[in-house]
Amino acid sequence: MKIKRVLFIVAMQVEAQPLIDHFSLTEDSTFAPHLPACAWIGEYKNLSLMVVVNGKDEETGMDLIGTQAATLSTHVAIETYHPHLLINAGTAGGFGANGSEIGDIYLSHKEVVFHDRRVPVDKWERQCIGYYPVWDVTRLAHLGFKTGVVTTGNSLDMPPVDEQRIKAIGGEVKDMEAAAVAWVAKIHQVPMFCVKAITDLMDSGIPTSQEFQTNLNLATQNLREACFKIVEEFTKR
Ligand code: SAH
Repeated sequence: MKIKRVLFIVAMQVEAQPLIDHFSLTEDSTFAPHLPACAWIGEYKNLSLMVVVNGKDEETGMDLIGTQAATLSTHVAIETYHPHLLINAGTAGGFGANGSEIGDIYLSHKEVVFHDRRVPVDKWERQCIGYYPVWDVTRLAHLGFKTGVVTTGNSLDMPPVDEQRIKAIGGEVKDMEAAAVAWVAKIHQVPMFCVKAITDLMDSGIPTSQEFQTNLNLATQNLREACFKIVEEFTKR
């Protein structure tokens, strides 16, 4: 199928704004007015682009990170825009032991998993981890990005029980939304993959929240560049 409509799902406004600005997208005020999620839309060459951001929490004014908001906004965005391809773009943690470096760009490889849903009962174990398939990014290999299994949980930290699980399932890129987005995309049969910029290394010895803040600017710049290159690729298809 020809890819004409590309939907980005992004958790935080600082991650999305460079994309919105670069492609001169305009806010779609008709998008889900009853929900916190917001959408920006526009045309780039032969593509229609949509960027949907999870939005802000009414009480704290903070970006709605994590799987709940991502599930909701992905579902509404797919029903509204009927994308041919969905890209979950954002920041993530990496592992120095795997060769990750701050600012690296990773494309999701093979599958997206959950690492913080532990239910050791028959097939629920498998269901809780998810193993949602991702679009085969070997077709973008010439862009030179790293690839890895993206693993999702609802916390920024990594207690030993999560660390063990991440190792066991081969997780390489740790975030808080990808598996939720991938699950909804799978239900709707929309191909999806992730583009993640590394803000922090889980094994650096530096508190993750501090490392995240220090490197957020670099990571979002690299994320923006990576997304431009990827969009450009799809204009050629
Ligand atoms: N907004 C907060 C922190 C958000 S960090 C602040 O300013 O301090 C969490 C966001 O970044 C999530 O959307 C998540 O997907 C991503 N993220 C970056 N590094 C992560 C990590 N090490 N583990 C999990 N999520 C990470």
